[in-house]
Amino acid sequence: MTTTTTSNGPLESLSQWEDNLSERYQQGKEKEKFRQYDDKTPPVVREFYRLNHKHQTRDFALAKRREWGGLNKTQMGIWEAMDFLNTLVDDSDPDTDLSQIEHNLQTAEAIRRDGHPRWMQLTGLIHDLGKVLCLWGEPQWAVVGDTFPTGCAWSDKIVYPEFFADNPDSQIAVYQTENGIYEPNCGLSNVDLSWGHDEYMYMVTRDYLPEPAQYIIRYHSCYPIHREGAYGHLMTAQDHELFEAVKTFNPYDLYSKGHDRVNVAAVRPYYEELIAEFFPAKLRW
Ligand code: FE
Ligand code: FE
Repeated sequence: MTTTTTSNGPLESLSQWEDNLSERYQQGKEKEKFRQYDDKTPPVVREFYRLNHKHQTRDFALAKRREWGGLNKTQMGIWEAMDFLNTLVDDSDPDTDLSQIEHNLQTAEAIRRDGHPRWMQLTGLIHDLGKVLCLWGEPQWAVVGDTFPTGCAWSDKIVYPEFFADNPDSQIAVYQTENGIYEPNCGLSNVDLSWGHDEYMYMVTRDYLPEPAQYIIRYHSCYPIHREGAYGHLMTAQDHELFEAVKTFNPYDLYSKGHDRVNVAAVRPYYEELIAEFFPAKLRW
């Protein structure tokens, strides 16, 4: 098997960002723990956020949306994409065989166990497949990390807001106003978020999924909105309503990791059927 390591960035593995998120939002812990989190953050994670906040400009997000939005890279089925993503070997993870597939399946299985609808189980399975961007040469800071609106003032509820001082958008006056280039309550579909695996996977799958699933995939890394409640002034009533699905989903994404090992071969037929219920055999990527 050909493998590619995640060494195109400061993180030792992509999951290091997610481990850090679950540290930041420790289950059941109160807000004051947030401060302690800062001191415990590994230097590579800080460096990751420094690069992310420095380089994720509005122009960058727009350019990447244009570059990848044509979906002209390849054609793959969903399970094929899972296998492909699994060739991304985490440098720090000795248990390489299941590392990427397992997070997807653990999330889906936890959602299924709690009796949520089939579309949400499927969403759990596929929500992170946009990370294949790393296998196509995109740096970690352009694939993972908390996402946030560009083209308007950065909320101080975004993790490490001080790193935005090095972002060229800090020099553009209109971007530093509360609404920036947007009309108040214009709706998130009109707001250009920083680029990453969420937006990419949304573009790949949007035609096939119900709207709450699209929201989950598109905004699951937007912690400033779904966990911190920022940017309400850009949202519509419909955004708020659909973010309920994102909030329902988030604990499964953050906390299902490492619970029970998933027997991939045993659950595969169930998920193959679920995939076929919503998706064609091949999708454009
Ligand atoms: Fe994700
Ligand atoms: Fe995830």
